Amino acid sequence: MVILNLDFLEYYKNAGKIASRVRENARRKDHRGKTLFEICESIEREIRENGGIPAFPVNTSINEIAAHYTAEPDDQRVVNDGDVLKIDLGVHQQGFIADTAVTVSYDPNYESLVQTAENALSDALRIAKVDTKSSEIGKTIENSIKRSGFIPIQNLSGHSLEQYTIHAGKSIPNIWTVGSFQLLANHAYAIEPFVTLKNGAGIVREGSIANIFAIISRKPTKDKELDDFLNFLWERFKSLPFALRWTTDRYDEKYSREIIEILKKKKNIHSYPILVEGNDKIVAQAEHTIIPESKLTNVITM
Ligand code: MN
Ligand code: MN
Repeated sequence: MVILNLDFLEYYKNAGKIASRVRENARRKDHRGKTLFEICESIEREIRENGGIPAFPVNTSINEIAAHYTAEPDDQRVVNDGDVLKIDLGVHQQGFIADTAVTVSYDPNYESLVQTAENALSDALRIAKVDTKSSEIGKTIENSIKRSGFIPIQNLSGHSLEQYTIHAGKSIPNIWTVGSFQLLANHAYAIEPFVTLKNGAGIVREGSIANIFAIISRKPTKDKELDDFLNFLWERFKSLPFALRWTTDRYDEKYSREIIEILKKKKNIHSYPILVEGNDKIVAQAEHTIIPESKLTNVITM
């Protein structure tokens, strides 16, 4: 006899509902004049107030930065008129993650870029069911974007999600690809088209800033201070990403920064550099998390 434990679907649905509500509030708000520190902290606070836990530091990536920028402690960079701001947020319950993103444009010239990312996502959601091939999703996204006169970012993709793991091994491309896998029932996937201008490179490169971290090994360092810090990180974040901001209630900022640097060198911690459009062109993103079913797409972050 097989007993299925389907509790995890409830966790996904709850996380999705919270993520959706917080994303829509972020879409409606006017972020101009606010610092990235204020934006990240207020969105993370809202996730908690709604009963969720942030699955990773809120990403606030502006203009040519496509992804992976989160606020430094007391980050004073301000969102200005003319900026295109991507807000990417994650919510988890018991490690089951809802991952979603929205782009807000404060330059009317880029509204169609934002709309193109949203449309490409909708087109992909329409075909993403159990057994759909990842290459079909990539093709759909690529065609949708190119039809609108823009291009996809080829080396950014959606991904499978697993408990306490955001990028769980399977990539959902934003272009047609040769290799392919089929979507499974009762599995979670994030679909996230990134769009740039026709004269963009259509690929991202790593920038010099890296302010999102995650534990990759719990191997003891044999230094008590380092091991204590590593244990603190594990207790709090497990294998999920974190920011320096998320450690400063317990540790002095300078101390924390130094220890993280050492743990990076020892390969206990990995850092994720910001990802920048190859020709420094503006990037827009849209993202939902889905759990495919046989006849429909269950979009948990809708
Ligand atoms: Mn995301
Ligand atoms: Mn994602």
